[in-house]
Amino acid sequence: KEGTMRQIEGVMYQTNAPKGVDPDNIFFVQVDATKCETCGECEEVCPTGVIQSINDAGIRAVVDPAGCVNCGQCLAHCPYGAIYEGVSYVDEIFEKLKDPDTIVVSMPAPAVRYGLGECFGTPTGTYVGGQMHAALRRLGFDYIWDNEFTADVTIMEEGTELIKRVKNHGKPGAYPLPQFTSCCPGWVKFAETFYPDLLPNMSTCKSPIGMLGPLAKTYGAKQTHTKAKKIYTVSIMPCIAKKYEGLRPELADSGFRDIDATINTRELAYMIKTAGIDFNSLPSEQPDPILGESTGAATIFGNSGGVMEAALRLAYEVLSGKKLADPNILAVRTHEGINTADVAVPGFGTVKVAVASGLDNAAKLCDEVRAGKSPYHFIEIMTCPGGCVNGGGQPLDPELRAS
Ligand code: SF4
Repeated sequence: KEGTMRQIEGVMYQTNAPKGVDPDNIFFVQVDATKCETCGECEEVCPTGVIQSINDAGIRAVVDPAGCVNCGQCLAHCPYGAIYEGVSYVDEIFEKLKDPDTIVVSMPAPAVRYGLGECFGTPTGTYVGGQMHAALRRLGFDYIWDNEFTADVTIMEEGTELIKRVKNHGKPGAYPLPQFTSCCPGWVKFAETFYPDLLPNMSTCKSPIGMLGPLAKTYGAKQTHTKAKKIYTVSIMPCIAKKYEGLRPELADSGFRDIDATINTRELAYMIKTAGIDFNSLPSEQPDPILGESTGAATIFGNSGGVMEAALRLAYEVLSGKKLADPNILAVRTHEGINTADVAVPGFGTVKVAVASGLDNAAKLCDEVRAGKSPYHFIEIMTCPGGCVNGGGQPLDPELRAS
C-alpha cells in the first residue's frame, strides 16, 4: 500500500509497514526521479547492478527489487538525497508504544550504539550505548533485550558448527567447507540469488536478530510472565537489509511473527528527537538482564572481521583446550578488500580463514569455492564496506551531502 513520505534524518521514507507481502516485491530503496542529478554514484556502488539508467537523460532507478540486496549503499552515497527508503515502521511503533495492552520490546544491534551519537553531535564512532538504553526507556519501550546477547549465541552456535564441519570434513553426509557466516542479510540474499549452489556452505545459524525475535516471544515471554501474543518486537539496526530479513516468511518460529518491526539508527534518532528527549543529558543505563547480557565478542560484530574474530576465539579454545594469550586477532580485521589468515591451533593444526568486505570481494571468494579451489575453512562476508558500522541505515556522512 502506498504510504505518505516523511523526511527522517535527511532521508525520505515512505511510511508504510507492509504485512504479508513477499519481501522480494518490495522496493526497500528507490530513486526519486525528480531529485536524481544523473551523477551515477548509486550505480557505481550497487553490488548487484539493479540501479540503472531508465531514460536518455540518465535518470536512475532500482529496476528489479528481487535482485536488490537492500544494503542501501546507494542511499548512503547519493550526494543529492535522491534515494529514499520504501518501508518505515516509525508511525506504527509510536502507536504501539501508546497502547497499554502491547509489550514493546527493543532489540538494538551492536553498531547502532556507535552510530547514534552522530545524530546528536558526538564524533563519529563514539560509544553511546548507555544513553541509547536510557532513551529507549524514555520512549516507552517495556524491555531492552539486546541483540548483543544473541550475537554471543551466534558465536557459540556458529563456532561449534565450524568445529563440527572441520572434524567431519570428507565424511559421508558432512556439511561442506568452507563455512560462510550467515548474519548479514544482504550477503544471504546475494548468495541465494547468485550462488544458490553454495547455500550448503552457509552456516545454518540464523542471524543474531533472527534468534532474538523468537527468544523474546518464547523465553522472554515466559520469564516476564507475558503472553507472547502481546509482545511487539522492534529490531533496531544499522541496516536497511534487516527490514527485508524481518519480513522473511520463515521467521515465525515463535508461533507469531518473530520480528514485528525493523527500524535503523536514523529512525531511532528521529524518534528520540520527535519525543523531545534531550539525548546528550541522559544518564548511562543498562539493558534488561533477561536477554540483555553480552560480552566484548558481541560488540565486535559491528566491524568487518568481528564475527570471524569472535568465532575463532571460541574455536581455538574448544579445539586446543587453551585460551588465546591475546584475544585480539588483528589479522582478520579489515575495512576493505579480502583479508586472509592462518591461525595455528595447538593439537589441531592450521585453521585457514578469509574475511571479505563488500560483495564484489565476496564474489571472488565464491567463485573460488564454486571452482573447488578455496583453501579456507571459514569465510566471513559483510555486504557494507567495513561492516555494519558503515551500514545503509547509519547516519549520513554530512560531508558527502555538502559537496
Ligand atoms: Fe546490514 Fe551489516 Fe550486512 Fe550492511 S553489513 S547489509 S549493515 S548486516
